[in-house]
Order: sequence, then C-alpha cells, then structure tokens
Amino acid sequence: MQLKTILNRVQKFKSFVYQSVQWSESDGVLTLVIEMVARAHSDPLCSGCGRRGPGYDRMETRRFEFVPLWGIPVLFLYAMRRVNCKRCGVKVESVPWARGKHTLTGAYMQFLATWAKRLSWQEVAAIFQTSWEKVFHSVEWAVEWGLAHRDISKVESIGVDEVLWHRGHPYLTVVYQIDAECKRLLWVGQDRTMRTLLRFFRAVGKQWSAQLRFVCSDMWKPYLRVIAKKASQAIHVLDRFHIAMHMNKAIDEVRAQEARAMRAEAMEVLKHSRWCLLKRPENLTDFQQAKLSDLLRLNLKAVRSYLLKESFQFFWGYVSPYWAGKFLDSWCIKTMRSRIEPMKKVARMLRSHRELLLNWFRAKKAISSGAMEGLNNKLKLTTRKSYGFRTFRVAEIVLYHALGKLPEPESTHRFC
Ligand SMILES: [Zn+2]
Repeated sequence: MQLKTILNRVQKFKSFVYQSVQWSESDGVLTLVIEMVARAHSDPLCSGCGRRGPGYDRMETRRFEFVPLWGIPVLFLYAMRRVNCKRCGVKVESVPWARGKHTLTGAYMQFLATWAKRLSWQEVAAIFQTSWEKVFHSVEWAVEWGLAHRDISKVESIGVDEVLWHRGHPYLTVVYQIDAECKRLLWVGQDRTMRTLLRFFRAVGKQWSAQLRFVCSDMWKPYLRVIAKKASQAIHVLDRFHIAMHMNKAIDEVRAQEARAMRAEAMEVLKHSRWCLLKRPENLTDFQQAKLSDLLRLNLKAVRSYLLKESFQFFWGYVSPYWAGKFLDSWCIKTMRSRIEPMKKVARMLRSHRELLLNWFRAKKAISSGAMEGLNNKLKLTTRKSYGFRTFRVAEIVLYHALGKLPEPESTHRFC
C-alpha cells in the first residue's frame, strides 16, 4: 500500500491532492515530505471572506507539520496561492489542513491537544519531539475552537469559587456548571474581586443569567454582592464544603493554641492529633481512633470544638428549612456560650448568612453537594500536573482544556 493511499483515507481534501512522498534527511533526522498541489481548475479560497476567487500568484513553499508516522516526522509542502478577491483585494488563500499562520496542521494540533489531556505538556513535547510552545498552541487552538462551539444555553446551576494560584498573584475565580446532567468549568478569571465576577456576568449576558435557578458559592463577600446583583432571581446557596472548611480552620486554630499552652504530658496526646479532629469519624484509621478516645478524655477546647463541628453535621440532614433554621439557631447559641473564640467566629458568620444557608434546603438538593468539591479536587490535580502556570493565559488554557468538557472538531480519522 502506498502512503498516498493511507493519506487519502485518513485525511482527504476535496480541492487538493497529494502529489509526491519523499524521504528527506537533515542533521541525521529522517523526515517524510509530502508535496501537496491544488487540483487543476480549482480556484483558491479567500482567507478574508471564505469565498472562491481567481488566483493571483503563488508564494514560497510553506511547510506544515502533520501527525508523525511510526515516530517519523511528516511534513506537508505547499506553495500558497494568493486570491484576487472582489471583496477583500489580494489575499492569501485558506487551506483546509491548517489555519492562519500556524505551522502545525489542524490534525496534528488536535492530536497533540488530545495527548495533552493525559500527559503534562512537557511530556507531550518530549514524546513527539516537538516544543512546549507548539503543544501550548495546539491546546490553545483546541480550547478556542471548543469555547466557540460549546453550548451553554441549558445551564441552570452554577458554582463560584476561588482558587489559589501562585504567589504574588494568588487568586483565580472559577465558575462551574453544577447541574446534575453536566458538571464542567465555564469560566476562569484573574483575581477574586467584585470586578472579576462582574466580568463573567458581562461575558455571558443578562439573558443568560436570568435563566439561572441556583448559584452556589462560599461566603466571600465580593462574590455574594455580585451574585445578589446579577442573578437575583436564582436561589443562592452556600456551599457545604466551604462551611466545613471554615470549621476545620477554626478547630485547627484552637488546637494549635492549646498545644502551645499545654503541659508536657498532655502535649504528648495532642501531638499527631490533627487529623483525628479534622477527618470524619468513619474515615479514621485504628491509630487515629485510639488517639481520638485519648483526646476525648481530656476535656480540651480542641475536643469541644470538634464535638461542635460534628454535631453540626445534623444540620444537613434536615428536610424542612424551618427545622433546619431552628437547629442552626440553637447550634449558634451553644457555640457562642462555648468561650472558644475561633468557633464563636464561625457561629457569627453562619448566623449572618442564615438565609443563604437555609437556601440549601430550598434548593431541595437539586444541586449535588459534592459537585463543587469534586471539580475543585480535579482542578488542584491539574494545576499540580502543570508545574504552576507561567502566565494567566496558560492557566486559563490548561483549566478549560482539562475541566471544560469542550467539544472537539470532527475529523475523518482519529489519530489517538
Ligand atoms: Zn475575500
């Protein structure tokens, strides 16, 4: 079988033909070079308006990288024509295998982008003997295509969250879709100010925001304000996962304070006790369970904080917002009397967001509580794999690519 036969099977173009296939060797690197020509009597397509027009002249031969074959680099050679377009004047033609000034063919970019979902960009570049930049441009191209072609018309629930990014410029704001049928990343923005989130609402438009039914977020004030203003019809729910985080932070603080103040023997008990108090009881190891009973025997503030946190779990089990509200109030009173300052702070915070907390029950669990946490964990994994992001543009592209569930252009053949 000839290589041309294979190419015509996997990547056939209506107005172009594969002319010749040749070996080329330079600096010990073997390459397959495939010459392309336009079919006789086919007019070139104008890259300005997409219409056909009479040919004007021919330019120098350009090289386009195609998907490597058995690890051998494959290049398309083609001399681009210029079109004498009635509308746009003299323009370079557009060719179906590559876009704009890209030197990689669309098929190769899609190939690299698909691998970049599984491996780090460095690894993809190393395996296919290409550069990090080329992998980046491939993913960027795939993401841009995906964003332009995705359908976000049926989104009813969104979750807003902040993500720690890197030192100096610490935060990103992310907006997820958290509907039961589809959970994905919708938007990424720099910083976590009101302005950041306003940019999102501006990008999606009033009509889109008006159809939202649920918005989930943590208690970060700028977000609360923007959501109240831009999606006032939606039920605003405070995220369970973030409330647990606030409690854990408070317990950690109490424990650390207490450990510092303790005598040596009790110190021994508090050592390595961090996870006993932060984990749910059913997730404890045997060692941690034993540790926990030791801790419970000392009537420590840390332990009392832990018990307060554990008793708060009942809150989520309620069905009616009314009874959940009663529970919340009594929990807050109990905690305010505990004389444990960090826990009192949590109680005050919960109290001042009472209505938003009770919205959880009004949302009738239409939004899955684990969605935000799940997406957040996936996001953390992704950032770890990317060795930190050099720029916001890179961060944005990586995250859309990994979490956006973006559609991909259809091709006649899937290379991977
Ligand atoms: Zn034109």
